[in-house]
Amino acid sequence: MMNGQQYKDSLRKLHPIVYCNGRKIESVVDDPMTAPHVNSAALTYELAFDPEYEDLMTATSHFTGKKINRFTHVHQSTEDLVKKVKMMRMIGQKTGTCFQRCVGFDALNASYITTYKIDKKYGTDYHERLKKYMQYVQETDIMVAGSMTDPKGDRSKKPSQQADPDLFVHVVERREDGIVVRGAKAHQTGMVNSHEMLILPTTNLGPEDKDYAVAAAIPVDAPGVIHIFGRQTNENRRLEGDIDCGNAEYAIVGGETLTVLNDVFVPWDRVFMCGEYDLAQEFVETFASYHRQNYGGCKVGVADVIIGAAASMAEYNGCPKASHIKDKLVEMVHLAESMHCCSIACSAMGHKTEAGSYYVDTLLANTVKLNCTKTMYEISRLAHDIAGGFIATLPYEADYRSEVCHGYIDKYFAGDARFPTEDRIRMARLLENMTGGTALAESMHGAGSPQAMRVMIQRETNWEQKKNFAKRLAKIKTGD
Ligand SMILES: Cc1cc2nc3c(=O)[nH]c(=O)nc-3n(C[C@H](O)[C@H](O)[C@H](O)COP(=O)(O)OP(=O)(O)OC[C@H]3O[C@@H](n4cnc5c(N)ncnc54)[C@H](O)[C@@H]3O)c2cc1C
Repeated sequence: MMNGQQYKDSLRKLHPIVYCNGRKIESVVDDPMTAPHVNSAALTYELAFDPEYEDLMTATSHFTGKKINRFTHVHQSTEDLVKKVKMMRMIGQKTGTCFQRCVGFDALNASYITTYKIDKKYGTDYHERLKKYMQYVQETDIMVAGSMTDPKGDRSKKPSQQADPDLFVHVVERREDGIVVRGAKAHQTGMVNSHEMLILPTTNLGPEDKDYAVAAAIPVDAPGVIHIFGRQTNENRRLEGDIDCGNAEYAIVGGETLTVLNDVFVPWDRVFMCGEYDLAQEFVETFASYHRQNYGGCKVGVADVIIGAAASMAEYNGCPKASHIKDKLVEMVHLAESMHCCSIACSAMGHKTEAGSYYVDTLLANTVKLNCTKTMYEISRLAHDIAGGFIATLPYEADYRSEVCHGYIDKYFAGDARFPTEDRIRMARLLENMTGGTALAESMHGAGSPQAMRVMIQRETNWEQKKNFAKRLAKIKTGD
């Protein structure tokens, strides 16, 4: 296993092409725009060496029997699934943001199940290839970005119907030694500070979309790969100081990219699906359900920080005992714990797959994420209510530090005199950054937009059974 420093050192050895705000980033570890995201991911390495978290952060490889970082593990029990959720909540509490490594973790586990099914149907050997790749991931402890989402162009059209064929990643050449892929992956969390990416298909496919049915592992600095770093709310504050960032150490959300794949060669041993279009939907749903499981883990960890910040703001404002404030704080906890309950439940109700690994209860996992698309907004709304309007009107950090203005700001932004004004300002900035713009959009669209969960819930619900429950009590003849 690598520790946090070793992880950072390992990134220095890579040479991804990363564009950001009109320039090239030379070192993602050192550049102020990417460094906080690296710090956040580094905690997934560092905490694996902390005896307090060893049980959550590490696992035993079912391939080798060796101790590994849990983020490289293939779930071997429902207990593993539960530990994943608890681990994510714990890291969310420490970072207050996305620590990025779960996407690849889920992509690997989804591939473990789906490659087994492809091989069973077609007699291919993707599962064996994946097992070898996963052993390599476990041995080296690399971070793998989970790359499912294509740019998608016209959402009403299938990949092969798009005006531009590259709007979904596709195979443009099949060679004796491997394949060549072209296209792009959008919204790629943690991509620039990952070692490799695991690309998966993003939607169900028909026979005419055969070339779009591709899953493969690609180094982030492979020839032809270009990353364009996404802009986040308030990100330029990183260049100014630390107070206005709110969470200067770890930033907000995961540092997403548009990752372009310009005719990238992938050797066969890194290809895990190539043309089996009828299993693309299976791939998508398996990945999505694992990924939706997470939202009652990491987002609840983040919510724990928001709740703590709101409770602190109430104290700084001098009204922690007001009944409506206490009610609102209790409501926030209730919402957060409801998400957590769902994630624990979908894990505890998981089952063993044909491949031998464990998989979540999909109905419950999709319910978690659908809740999250509303709950994080409501938690943030309540936090804004408690904090007061100054989270939207505070002066610049530079003025707070200036000789002329410091005194005025310190005097007139004071709350309860027992607390320094700077603490009140710092907490407000943390809340502002954790509850606005980019942070909230991630709760909405990360792991799929709400409708995607509704479709899964519609499909996974046993409607006939429910109707029969009612019919029996109403003494109406049932069909069964
Ligand atoms: C912060 C963040 C991090 C992310 N990280 C990753 C990552 O690491 N890896 C990864 O692969 N992906 C990642 N994603 C992508 C995420 O999975 C997508 O954003 C999500 O699937 C929605 O896709 P979209 O953004 O293209 O939205 P759209 O698909 O454009 O959705 C917009 C709206 O249109 C609706 N819509 C879309 N298609 C149709 C249709 N055919 N018919 C009717 N309505 C439709 C949707 O329901 C939604 O309401 C991330 C997203 C965010 C915001």
